[in-house]
Amino acid sequence: MLLRKLYYRIRQFAFSAFMCIAPTRDSIVIAGAGSIYKVPKLIKEQGLKKVFIITTSGFLRRGSLQAFFEAFQTENIKFIIFGEVQPDPTINCIEKAVDIYQNEHCEAIVAVGGGSVIDCAKAVGARIARPKKTLLQLQGLLKVMKKIPSIYAIPTTAGTGSEATAGAVITNGENHYKYTVLDLCLVPKYAILDAELTTTLPSSITAVTGMDALTHAIEAYTNRFASPKARKNAKVAVKLIYKNLLKAYENGNDIEARENMLLASYYAGIAINNNFVGYVHAIAHGIGGLYGVPHGKANAIILPYVLEYYGKAIEKKLAELADVAGIKGNTQKEQAKALITSVRNLNKKMGIPEKIEELKRKDFQMLVQRAVKEANPTYPVPTIWTEKEFGLVLKRLK
Ligand code: NAD
Repeated sequence: MLLRKLYYRIRQFAFSAFMCIAPTRDSIVIAGAGSIYKVPKLIKEQGLKKVFIITTSGFLRRGSLQAFFEAFQTENIKFIIFGEVQPDPTINCIEKAVDIYQNEHCEAIVAVGGGSVIDCAKAVGARIARPKKTLLQLQGLLKVMKKIPSIYAIPTTAGTGSEATAGAVITNGENHYKYTVLDLCLVPKYAILDAELTTTLPSSITAVTGMDALTHAIEAYTNRFASPKARKNAKVAVKLIYKNLLKAYENGNDIEARENMLLASYYAGIAINNNFVGYVHAIAHGIGGLYGVPHGKANAIILPYVLEYYGKAIEKKLAELADVAGIKGNTQKEQAKALITSVRNLNKKMGIPEKIEELKRKDFQMLVQRAVKEANPTYPVPTIWTEKEFGLVLKRLK
C-alpha cells in the first residue's frame, strides 16, 4: 500500500504541475443584473447564425426566458430550444440533444440552467467534437482533447461553478452510475453571471447549491499541491459564502447576496479546476447516482464527516479558512473544529439533515468501490483512504 500511495502522490504532483503550466483559459465573465441580454449581440459579433439553447422545462413553463428568446430574434440569430434536461443529465438525454444539434446544424451552445444544464451542454460539446466516441469512452481525464463548440454558460443556481470548470458530470441511467468527463477544452467560453435568474430558486435549492460551492472551495483548498491561484480563489469563495449564503436563503430577492453567491460559486469552480475536488464528492456522486439525492444536499451532509475524518492532516488549512470566514479559536485545532461545527450549523439553519436517509447498507460495498475508483489516484486528497476508511465514513452517514 505504501508504494501505491507514493505512486498516487507522484502522479498527483505531476498533474498539478502540468495544470500550472498548461495553456488553460478561464471563461470570460460577464456579470451583472440583466447581463443575459448581452448574449445574443455577443453571439452575432462572433459571426454565428444559429445556436442551440439548452434549458429545463421549468424555465420554459415559467416563461422567464421569453424576452431572452426575443433578443435573439432582434439580432436575427436562429435558435433551437432543447428544454428537456432533468437534474443529473443522463446519457440518453445528452444523446438526444446531440442528434438535434447535428440535424439542425447549430454552431454554438447557450446553456441556461443549473449545473445539470451546463454539464449537459459540455457533454453535447464533447460528443460534437468527438462524434465517433461514446460518452462512456469519454469518461475520465483528458479524453476529449479537441475544440468543442463555444458554450455560453448562464448559471441559474449558485453552487456547481460548472460555468467555470473543466468537468461535466454525467449519469448512466442504466446502472445509476455518475461519472465525470474532465478536459480543459470543456471550460465554457463565456460565463454570464446574472443574479436575477437565481431569484426564482426555492430556498431549499439555494441552501444545498450554496453548500456545494462551499464544498468545492474547502476541498480544493485542503487538497495537496494547490497552486496559489487555487488557494486564493477558494478563500475568496469561502469568505463570500459565509457572508451571503444565509442572506440569500432567508430572502431570495436579496440581489446583492444572490450576486455574491454567483461569484462565490464561480471562484470555487476555478479553484476545483486548478486542484480538483476530494472524497466528499467521490462519496456524493455514488449516493447521487444510486438514490437521486441532489448533489449539493449530498455534499452538504457528507462534508463535516469527511473533514472530521481527515483530522490532524487538515487542521492548519481549516484554521486558515476559519480565519477567512471570521471563525475564532484559541488554537489551530480549536479553530479547525469550529469551522467543522460552523458547517453543521449552516446545514441546520437551512434545514439540511445530518444523515442521508436514503442510504442502504446493502449498497455500501458498491458505493465504496465507486468512490475509490473515482478519487484514487486522481484527487490530491489530504490523506489517501482505503476501502476500509470509506466504509467507516459511510457508516456514520446512515
Ligand atoms: P440542477 O441543475 O440539477 O437544478 C436543480 C433543480 O433546480 C432543478 O429542478 C432545476 O430545474 C431547478 N432550477 C435551477 N435553476 C432554477 C431557478 N433559477 N429557479 C427555479 N428552479 C431552478 O442543480 P445544480 O446543483 O445546479 O446542479 C447539479 C448537477 O451539477 C449535478 O449533476 C452535479 O453532479 C453537477 N455538478 C457539476 C459540476 C461541474 O463542475 N461540472 C460541479 C458540481 C456539480
